[in-house]
Amino acid sequence: MSKKGIAILGATGSVGTQALDVIRAFPDVFEAVVLTCGSNGDLLIKQALEFKPKSVVVTDPGQYNKVREALQYQDISVLLGEEGLIEAVQYPEISIVLNAIVGSAGLRPTVTAIKGGKDIALANKETLVVAGELIMALVRAYGVNMLPVDSEHSAIFQCLVGESDNPIEKIYVTASGGPFRGKKREELLVVTKAQALKHPNWSMGAKITIDSASLMNKGLEVIEAKWLFDLNIDQVDVVVHPESIVHSLVQFRDGSMKAQMGLPDMKLPIQYALTYPARFENNFQRFNFMDYPALHFEQADMDTFRNLALAYDSLRAGGNKSCILNAANEVVVEAFLKEKIGFLQMSDIIEETLSKVDFIASPTLEDYLETDRLTRLLTKEIIKD
Ligand code: NDP
Ligand code: MG
Repeated sequence: MSKKGIAILGATGSVGTQALDVIRAFPDVFEAVVLTCGSNGDLLIKQALEFKPKSVVVTDPGQYNKVREALQYQDISVLLGEEGLIEAVQYPEISIVLNAIVGSAGLRPTVTAIKGGKDIALANKETLVVAGELIMALVRAYGVNMLPVDSEHSAIFQCLVGESDNPIEKIYVTASGGPFRGKKREELLVVTKAQALKHPNWSMGAKITIDSASLMNKGLEVIEAKWLFDLNIDQVDVVVHPESIVHSLVQFRDGSMKAQMGLPDMKLPIQYALTYPARFENNFQRFNFMDYPALHFEQADMDTFRNLALAYDSLRAGGNKSCILNAANEVVVEAFLKEKIGFLQMSDIIEETLSKVDFIASPTLEDYLETDRLTRLLTKEIIKD
């Protein structure tokens, strides 16, 4: 049996390194054909020496020479920048492109990979938030699989196996509530970056960890789910579930609900996306009911965590609104991480940006890229960055 060729975009990140753990566990099944990094050239070099891919791509130009020198005696080509990503995702040896880049930088490589006939294992939810309608149209036109890696969407995807004739009535996307669950606005005025970076259940990259604390992550996931599963906005509900054991639920038209459950560990949805439709045996830790005698569910507080409401509003408005939401969010999260703005200011600035960037009802890919660019400029201006 020939091996399944995988490209891992964002191999040096939280999802990327866990994807390499999965590939390492099944050396006869998977082959890493392409690995990419942003600024962590040192880790990419180590990964390249272990996995011997055909190519690596470095998107931070400052890291390029170092990586090239370190790999000069290897049979590995070293490519640079977005152009490098675009070239590498098209290699014929690749069957699945796992997109684990953070942010809208993942959009163009996803588009190219789909057009190249590759299945997509999608962690980069921003791709669907920015351009969900366009991406899903491409997925249908090119007949590729869009395999969700985000744990909630993997859960829904798993609940839908064998249900192709049964329409979804509703889905419930579960949310841990993050480190500030239950807090009110007065308390959130004074929370710090360090507190926001302490997620109760998941260990993830910095951007998504802040998004989880502000509930923007759940907002992005609502938008992601709408496009992935072709739903109306009223069919996508959020329920807070602090234990993160039920990863999401699907309700069918007879009222029956299916949930996918398990310990919070991204390796499981990553592995499922790569092995789908099969399930491979592994030694991941198993769930024990005695550790979780009770599971809890509560309503999301959208008055306090306004990002979730802003995401629903953007989705309802359609066009390039979610693209604006996403770009403004990327900029405010970076500013919060640099301690230039406070936690609650993030929603205020996103809201202001949403009202100022021109609305486009039926955007093309170029329109999305331009909206993304303009929104970043405007948001930085508002922050005075
Ligand atoms: P990380 O920040 O840990 O990793 C991001 C990866 O993308 C790194 O390899 C980074 O390179 C690379 N990267 C950063 N900026 C760019 C850029 N402009 N162009 C190309 N590559 C870039 O993020 P996560 O792994 O946490 O998240 C990745 C994606 O997966 C996000 O969209 C997130 O929402 C989603 N996701 C993550 C989950 C998690 O558990 N972490 C769970 C569900 C979804 P370098 O580090 O070398 O600079
Ligand atoms: Mg998620």
